[in-house]
Amino acid sequence: MLANQSTKTFLASQIRLSGIVVMASIALSVTLVWFAVADVAAEFRFISLLYAVLIPAVVAPLAMSYTVWQNLKNHHLHAEVHRLANRDDLTGLANRRSFTREGARRLATAAAGDTPLGLLIIDIDWFKQVNDRFGHEAGDEMLVHIARQLQQGSPSGALVARLGGEEFTVLCNVSDQQDLSAIAETLRRGAEDACLLYRGEPIRVTISLGVAIARPGDTLSSVLSRADKALYAAKNCGRNRFALAA
Ligand code: GH3
Ligand code: MG
Ligand code: MG
Repeated sequence: MLANQSTKTFLASQIRLSGIVVMASIALSVTLVWFAVADVAAEFRFISLLYAVLIPAVVAPLAMSYTVWQNLKNHHLHAEVHRLANRDDLTGLANRRSFTREGARRLATAAAGDTPLGLLIIDIDWFKQVNDRFGHEAGDEMLVHIARQLQQGSPSGALVARLGGEEFTVLCNVSDQQDLSAIAETLRRGAEDACLLYRGEPIRVTISLGVAIARPGDTLSSVLSRADKALYAAKNCGRNRFALAA
């Protein structure tokens, strides 16, 4: 969506630029023709008319094509830098940096309106054992697999991010605590039921979740901290479950 928007803006700017170049070259040509028909020496008249044709027909299109090509390269480069800065390389989810910025924005919007915002912190259970038993590559595949499960199981419009390691977060609008609990349970069951087939071998993991609803006056880090405490409780109560923040 954002990429499409920036591509549209870029195309609009290039069309504007092309329009300006066309107008400028036509204005220059008209000036040269006017100069040629004025009372000037024959050799100047010929050169003026020649330039009046060459500028709009050759020079302007070449200069314009080169500029648009350079701008297109810069646009792609900018999009790539933006992606690298905001996306987690392995899973393709939003990274911590992007989550912090977008999460704070959503929290402010939620505080201004009256739709509660729910935050879930998700941690894969006994993930180290996956690495130890099947290797780091299998662990990486599991992270991608769980990221996909979380994206599929989250409500539409939810912000799903990888905070780091085997820890993820989901930020979404909810109607109440019951709604938030239902989302947490859907994600928990989704991870439990989905099986990763790694080199023909099925690997299953479970997840634990700590969930909290933003309260008036909350900052992103205060909601994260409450959800984190709830996650700790879910782990202590045996894992493969969710716990609501106090
Ligand atoms: P718990 O249920 O208490 O969360 O146990 P755990 O084993 O999941 O947690 P622990 O913190 O002991 O281990 C997390 C492991 O995650 C250790 C680390 O090597 C691994 N890890 C972190 N980031 C990555 C990664 O990007 N790829 C892979 N393959 N492993 C990672
Ligand atoms: Mg962890
Ligand atoms: Mg873990």
